[in-house]
Amino acid sequence: MYDAILIEKTADGSQARLTQIDDAQLPPGDVTIRVAFSTLNYKDALAITGKGPVVRSFPMVPGIDFAGIVEHSDDPAWKAGDRVVLNGWGVGETHWGGLAGKARVKGDWLVPLQAPFTMRQAATIGTAGYTAMLCVLAMERHGVQPSAGEVLVTGAAGGVGSVAVALLAKLGYRVVAVTGRPAEAEYLTRLGAAEVMDRAAFTSPGKPLAKERWAGAVDVAGGQVLANVCAAMRYRGVVAACGLAGGMAVPTTVAPFILRGVTLAGIDSVMCPEPDRLEAWSRLARDLDVRHFAGLTQEVALADAIAAADSLLAGQVRGRIVVPVA
Ligand code: NDP
Repeated sequence: MYDAILIEKTADGSQARLTQIDDAQLPPGDVTIRVAFSTLNYKDALAITGKGPVVRSFPMVPGIDFAGIVEHSDDPAWKAGDRVVLNGWGVGETHWGGLAGKARVKGDWLVPLQAPFTMRQAATIGTAGYTAMLCVLAMERHGVQPSAGEVLVTGAAGGVGSVAVALLAKLGYRVVAVTGRPAEAEYLTRLGAAEVMDRAAFTSPGKPLAKERWAGAVDVAGGQVLANVCAAMRYRGVVAACGLAGGMAVPTTVAPFILRGVTLAGIDSVMCPEPDRLEAWSRLARDLDVRHFAGLTQEVALADAIAAADSLLAGQVRGRIVVPVA
């Protein structure tokens, strides 16, 4: 038996609790992994609190990502002892996830732990950091370079945002970080932000086209914030949109796209094809300054992950929450 968080359906929604499970309860899959670290992402917090329709079948072990060691494999690609990482593929949504002592998944969903990361570091990066890298790759593929001008990161003190700030600064961009928590300005500056802006500057309806400022942007907010970011993109600027922390509906017009050639690049980490995943992880190994790991991470025990989900959704968490499981 080992500890697990289990979300069960109730009459008025769902309820998460800490319990114990065994191998016989694990879902079908060809690789069984002893989970070393899982993490708490925004999506996990929605699943645990029941505040978003993340869980598609009950009961569910949440945890959209983990790092661990293969215990048993029927997939020739993996053998016992291999160190692996999983991000997405519906794990923690439709298939039991990482917030448990073990996970059983399809071998195709795993990627090898990227040297020189430890399992703890890979978990610190987690789906949030890997998504931040996908955003940077999308900006690069559409031609944004440090010489093109300033880049913006919204939700900068959160998981995706923190890693995006650190990555873009290391790559030589002038990074402007947007946060609703001015108290985190020093933290963001340490990660490499050249300037910190108050989120309030982005939350009111603005003009379809504002003064051109941003060559690139990583947006985790969606909603009005994304609309205002699009309006202030420079000619041929690129917005990598990955989140909805500020809302689903985007009250924008086509003006930035048809008059300034702005690209809105959608980012999905869940079903992202393997070559892009491997590229993202190898670029993280190259471009993420390991000195930031300590400042980026808070460790929360499995037993405390349920309470931490509320804080995360309340926007009170800085950087990443890592959950040691083994
Ligand atoms: P976090 O909770 O760690 O960070 C979210 C941040 O968004 C907060 O820290 C806060 O930053 C900011 N924020 C909170 N509320 C609002 C608001 N009302 N308006 C604008 N900004 C707000 O979450 P993650 O970093 O894990 O995820 C961020 C977003 O990205 C989520 O929507 C998540 O679902 C999405 N995501 C999408 C993925 C994909 O594959 N497309 C993968 C991973 C995440 P601050 O305090 O600095 O303002």
